[in-house]
Amino acid sequence: MRQSGTRPVSSLKVYLRLLNYLRPMIGMFAISLLGFIAFASSQPLLAAILKYFVDGLTMPSGSTFHDIPLLGRLDLVYGVPLMLILIVIWQGIGSFFGNYYLARVSLYLIHDLRRTLFESLLRLPNTYFDQNNSGHLISRITYNVTMVTGAATDAIKVFVREGLSVIFLFGYLLWMNWKLTLVIVAILPVIGVMAGAASRKFRKQSRKIQSAMGDLTHIASETIQGYRVVRSFGGEDYESERFRISSEANTSKQLRMAKTGATFTPALQLVTFTTMAVLLLIVLLLRGDSSAGDLVAYITAAGMIPKPIRQLSEISATIQKGLAGAESIFAQLDETPELDQGTMELDRVSGRLEVRNLSFSYLGSNQQVLDDLSFSIEPGQMVALVGRSGSGKSTLSSLIPRFYQHTHGQILIDGVDVEAYTLRNLRSHIALVTQQTSLFNDTIANNIAYGDLAGVPRAAIEKAAEAAYAREFIDKLPDGFDTLVGENGVLLSGGQRQRLAIARAILKDAPILILDEATSALDTESERHIQKALDHVMSNRTTLVIAHRLSTIEKADVIMVMEQGRIVERGTHAGLLAANGQYAKLHAMQFSEELAAEGSREPETDLSSSLEHDNNFRPDTPA
Ligand code: ATP
Ligand code: MG
Repeated sequence: MRQSGTRPVSSLKVYLRLLNYLRPMIGMFAISLLGFIAFASSQPLLAAILKYFVDGLTMPSGSTFHDIPLLGRLDLVYGVPLMLILIVIWQGIGSFFGNYYLARVSLYLIHDLRRTLFESLLRLPNTYFDQNNSGHLISRITYNVTMVTGAATDAIKVFVREGLSVIFLFGYLLWMNWKLTLVIVAILPVIGVMAGAASRKFRKQSRKIQSAMGDLTHIASETIQGYRVVRSFGGEDYESERFRISSEANTSKQLRMAKTGATFTPALQLVTFTTMAVLLLIVLLLRGDSSAGDLVAYITAAGMIPKPIRQLSEISATIQKGLAGAESIFAQLDETPELDQGTMELDRVSGRLEVRNLSFSYLGSNQQVLDDLSFSIEPGQMVALVGRSGSGKSTLSSLIPRFYQHTHGQILIDGVDVEAYTLRNLRSHIALVTQQTSLFNDTIANNIAYGDLAGVPRAAIEKAAEAAYAREFIDKLPDGFDTLVGENGVLLSGGQRQRLAIARAILKDAPILILDEATSALDTESERHIQKALDHVMSNRTTLVIAHRLSTIEKADVIMVMEQGRIVERGTHAGLLAANGQYAKLHAMQFSEELAAEGSREPETDLSSSLEHDNNFRPDTPA
């Protein structure tokens, strides 16, 4: 498994790219910024008001805001409490606008990122899914994105609010007594160095945590999906151990991160309060001619500085977590999407399919899966592919709709290279039933009419189901076509699932039909029925059928026998039998097996398939 998203990129670059997503929300962002400016400006005001309070205490009668132009004549006894309330209201308004509008910005950012990630999944090539495990892909959308919110909301909030608070407080301090203030300035580099060291550590640890989170999701989802295998093969201990190890690794990584944070904060406290102590000492020793009010206000303002500084230093953890998340998100977004360089779009092709000298090996493997294949199928013809497991049949069928990029040879539809079509148009000409049926957790009708087919009239869906011999079981379901099939169709039997997949392909009515083991899970009788229906469907289109059961392909115009990526024999059923080669051998073997099985199996198959319907879908009938 390749773990993308772990190569170090410059933090600033990643952060700027992240902030770029905020651009459309610049207005809301500005409102929130103004709010935080208001909030921060209230900080020194709170300290300043103390000066007048203390001055009022020492000289109770007749004191006014003598040195402030507008308030010059206001009596301190009423003025100080009034000003305090006004300052706090000012602070509250600022706080509301700051927080609310920033939350809006960040929530939209999350939404944006999640969607962009998901959209990229829809466009990434098959190889990306082969090489990245689904747990990591999922946790990137669910977990990493929330980490990014941290960097986008919390961090910016703290940065703006506390940063401005520090600036305003410093401004006030400088204005009050610049010499004393220089003492405070002297510790800033110390804090900077400490924060820098901690943030590098945070980011490294956070990256590890996110990867561990992906592992955890991966193991859990594998076990959930494979729970039948887990149970029947006694995999409980193995899975439980695997999960424990992964969860423990996650915990210890989180703990290490917490430790970094927990050490950092008190260390910083120590530095700042030592400075405070020095400050107090200087104030006490060298009081000069300042009034008590001035000194109290100064010390209060200085005392207000460590808190925003500490919060500022803590955001580096949040930012680093967010950056690690953003990094892996951007790495996915930067993956090259499926190559879609073609421009040709045809409403309908006639379906002539030609393969010329096609060779293929999967990315990162040097096994030649397809080796110099050439053949062509005329519209209305049926070509069958047979051959041993692993000989490359499914690979060939997935190259036609360009699920993978071939590098040698050509595939042509109606004489035009498949690469000349747009991907969407190319795929609209092909109906493919794959070896693994994929159903969605939706109704039967919506599963048959999926994607581009959504919205076709019910009658058409019913007709397709009929042709796929699926009516037989659908009508017995409690809600008929509106029955939910469960995740990936778990509420249906394997054969029922296959019939829905076939119905989907029939409904698509594409000129090229590819059936990869499409009826392998069906009993002989259902298969015969479908075969009859398919004969009708195939009559006017190009069909490529892959089958292990040779009885289903006897009528094929051409049968091609594949072995290790090569076509080793081709001809009609009769011709190949007469030639007495590979095909004849395979056929003789299956024929004798089937004869032996037919006699004993047939009644049993019928019984089990009718029982299965009763069990699954009639919970209301007494057993
Ligand atoms: P079966 O009859 O069992 O379905 P098949 O003829 O369809 O077999 P393919 O699925 O085409 O065989 O596989 C051909 C070869 O390609 C196998 O050796 C397999 O290991 C390899 N292969 C298949 N899919 C991939 C993939 N996604 N990535 C890498 N190698 C693959
Ligand atoms: Mg296959």
